[in-house]
Amino acid sequence: MIHLKNEEEIELIRVANQLVSKTLAEVGRAIKPGVTTMSLDTLAEQYIRDNGGIPSFKGYEGFPSTLCVSVNEEVVHGFPSDYVIKEGDIVSIDCGAIVKGFNGDSAYTFPVGEIAPETQELLDVTKESLYKGIAAAKVGGRIGDISFAVQNHVESHGMGVVREMVGHGLGREMHEDPQVPNYGRQGSGTKIKDGLVICIEPMITQGSRHIVFGENGWTVSTKDHKPAAHYELCVACTQSGVKVLSTFKYIDPTAMY
Ligand code: MG
Ligand code: MG
Repeated sequence: MIHLKNEEEIELIRVANQLVSKTLAEVGRAIKPGVTTMSLDTLAEQYIRDNGGIPSFKGYEGFPSTLCVSVNEEVVHGFPSDYVIKEGDIVSIDCGAIVKGFNGDSAYTFPVGEIAPETQELLDVTKESLYKGIAAAKVGGRIGDISFAVQNHVESHGMGVVREMVGHGLGREMHEDPQVPNYGRQGSGTKIKDGLVICIEPMITQGSRHIVFGENGWTVSTKDHKPAAHYELCVACTQSGVKVLSTFKYIDPTAMY
């Protein structure tokens, strides 16, 4: 069941998403060779709590930490650990927080120092595909318009769209209807109505789109061990246009959103 949001609810979801966006920027500043992924998690939890939020991932269906930290061939749901980040890594951070009963949820893949040119292309194409998805979102359209825009951009660059995990509605719950796949046909799927709030989150692979689950039952990696990237923003679709409720501008002031 889809819960359409009114203006007041959209504003509250924006507040939660702004905290998540600022947390991602804080974490991004701490990512450098020599630090552990666990230290990023500690920092994120402290930052969220200091700013009046509650980490939403911690304890969610048994997930152990505030952040999902997924390095290189890990796509999503990586566990923070004693892994030491090194030059040339890419580090995907997914973060969620609850403020005043509403959820924020966003993700960003950070390059560490100098990365391989083809990996930089993966990051660029994944972020662009998210922006294309946002541009395709409008009241009166359908979820498939967003899905198609993401898939078309990614596959035209010879990269893979992970099918097993998808974007989602966001509100009082972290995962609400509808699902927002990163592949699909224009004009298909749920109709986008005034007040629909969704997270669009392409999970993109440099090589084959096929994935494997890790021994912890959570962490998703590419089957071919090639890198993967993940960017996520939250948007509210309204009669007066699409409002992007989270932002990458705290990470990169020149970002489009
Ligand atoms: Mg999400
Ligand atoms: Mg997320």
